[in-house]
Amino acid sequence: MLPGTLYLQSNCEKPMQEALKVIVDIQELDMKMIRLMRLKKERQQELEQIESLRKELYQQFADKETEIKELGTTNQQQETRLQEIAVRIKKLEGQQSSIKKVDEFNALTLEITAAEREKASIEQKLSDLVDKKVAEEELLERIQRSLKESEESSLDLEKEIRASIVLINNEGSHIKAQREEMAKEADPELLRIYERLLKNKKDRVVVAIENRTCSGCHIVLTAQHENLVRKGENLVFCEHCSRIHYWQEGENAEGAETTQGKRRRRRKLASS
Ligand SMILES: [Zn+2]
Repeated sequence: MLPGTLYLQSNCEKPMQEALKVIVDIQELDMKMIRLMRLKKERQQELEQIESLRKELYQQFADKETEIKELGTTNQQQETRLQEIAVRIKKLEGQQSSIKKVDEFNALTLEITAAEREKASIEQKLSDLVDKKVAEEELLERIQRSLKESEESSLDLEKEIRASIVLINNEGSHIKAQREEMAKEADPELLRIYERLLKNKKDRVVVAIENRTCSGCHIVLTAQHENLVRKGENLVFCEHCSRIHYWQEGENAEGAETTQGKRRRRRKLASS
């Protein structure tokens, strides 16, 4: 006799099997919800990524602006220093013209030469700084351009992501409502056990036996265990992975079958 036939004929004698059917339906909704929430999280992370990229660009822009401002201040200071030296050289030259003693004259010449050397060095430094400022200003412009471009391109993407999150939320509340209805039909104690297992595994925890194998952990079970589950009277846990086992009608008669094969056999059973 086919186990499937046996099952169909003794439906009401399997209270646990009946109770588990409700839980399995709830489980399918929970799986949908888990997938949905995973998707939502992914989409939210995408939004965060866009946001952090933009922040980074803004930061770069602000840093560059500060740097340029500081360069400007430094250049100003060097300009002032140059003017001071020029004044000093002029003053020294004036003093020199009225001096008679050779050693004093020579001392002033040395001082003037030193001042001119300093002046030349500052001029070189200043020229380098001006070049640097120009380069930094070009960089600032580039950052500004890429900031604008990235804002424009990310706007559509962000809109799309936000819209998809709205859809996800809608579907989520739909599933939630459906689940609440179903939960009313479930055995409260069994539902509690199921929810505790689900919380641990975040995966299907009420699973069928296929080919005398737990379809959760894929470990082969004993015939005795299989019989216990088939009877459908008690709650039976997989001794390897702690999942709850249930007997799926028609699944186990001929091992792995195609869905079509199952359907065909179900039809045959129904019409006989
Ligand atoms: Zn298992």
